Amino acid sequence: MDFELSDEQAAIREMAAGFAAEAIAPHALEWDQNKHFPIDTLKAAAGLGMAAIYVREDVGGSGLTRLDAALIFEALSLGCPAVASFLSIHNMCAWIIDAYGSPEQRSQWLPAMTGMEMIASYCLTEPGHGSDAGNLATRAVRDGDHYILNGQKQFISGAGASDLYIVMARTGGEGPKGISTFIVPKDTPGLSFGASEKKMGWHAQPTRAVMFENVRVPAANRIAEEGQGFRIAMAALDGGRLNIAACSLGGAQAALDKAIAYMGERKAFGRKISDFQALQFRLADMATELEVARTFLWRAASALDAKSPEATRFCAMAKRFVTDAGFEVANQALQLHGGYGYLSEYGVEKIVRDLRVHQILEGTNEIMRVIIARALLGSR
Ligand SMILES: Cc1cc2nc3c(=O)[nH]c(=O)nc-3n(C[C@H](O)[C@H](O)[C@H](O)COP(=O)(O)OP(=O)(O)OC[C@H]3O[C@@H](n4cnc5c(N)ncnc54)[C@H](O)[C@@H]3O)c2cc1C
Repeated sequence: MDFELSDEQAAIREMAAGFAAEAIAPHALEWDQNKHFPIDTLKAAAGLGMAAIYVREDVGGSGLTRLDAALIFEALSLGCPAVASFLSIHNMCAWIIDAYGSPEQRSQWLPAMTGMEMIASYCLTEPGHGSDAGNLATRAVRDGDHYILNGQKQFISGAGASDLYIVMARTGGEGPKGISTFIVPKDTPGLSFGASEKKMGWHAQPTRAVMFENVRVPAANRIAEEGQGFRIAMAALDGGRLNIAACSLGGAQAALDKAIAYMGERKAFGRKISDFQALQFRLADMATELEVARTFLWRAASALDAKSPEATRFCAMAKRFVTDAGFEVANQALQLHGGYGYLSEYGVEKIVRDLRVHQILEGTNEIMRVIIARALLGSR
């Protein structure tokens, strides 16, 4: 057991942190306020290998590990968790095609996805089926060499801006075993998008519904066999949950750093507020929470890298613990700024708003407990 990062891992983290400091952090507040989706910045990140982190190298992927990805997403989120999180979703989509796609699908789609000339969105959730996605209703009916898709996806990150949609749709009977996965290009007739949702945070990326009205997709765009779609969607979420946890960690670390700096400047009752022991203890607890979160996140990432039978449970535990801890630390950092924490220019309230949704998406933290409990109790 080695708790030190290798030289290569330290260099990867430094590269991502440098990119976040130069290309993301200076613009994060403006992007949040203007609801700007910074596609050029995402493409620049792709140029550094961060759009296909754990995709194989023959199609332009970086061929790195899940632990490397956790380091990258934490570092990027020091700049903006919302931007980093979208990159995670694109990475999930690229990995689905790399891991489950045919050789033809890999060579058709991945070279453009690794450079983000093609941006991808992950389409699982529906208006009536979020946590119980295994009962989703979007249908894909075989018609010769095509499938015809009808239905609606809800809350899709990047929708409207993305070029490709990785869509889970029902080809068979009820339940998870009747679901298949399809690659749907944006320009396919019958594909349309709802209005951009007005939301609490994650303003630097659009969230929209995706509608399918008699959308004809070549059968060659089905990934893997019919009926494999739910398994594929869940496997992608194992990694996605680690990434989203890493995004919480980076955001919370940035908020903690801001609080430490602020406490050294702000005076109350004739003293710096950093002189109050009650507040020192709070800082100590915040830093401890984040260090515990980081250590366990790396443990879960190592389990996924090792294809451990415990990986899904560990990924759920990491997502639940790290996103809860990250939100609490960011919220405490806001409190330590007093009234100024509530003003947007200090940048802490944005982090709190961005991190709140990490407790909800990629499976809510209640659903993480369902997964953990199921693993503990077996099928009882
Ligand atoms: C900003 C944003 C971006 C998103 N991006 C994407 C995306 O790109 N792609 C995508 O597919 N989805 C996306 N989602 C959807 C997200 O994954 C879902 O919102 C989430 O899975 C919860 O589903 P729901 O909203 O339908 O809540 P529901 O499933 O209706 O849950 C409501 C409440 O009940 C609880 N609950 C439900 N079932 C149980 C149970 N068995 N035991 C205990 N508690 C339970 C939930 O935890 C929650 O608190 C996004 C959501 C948001 C807000």
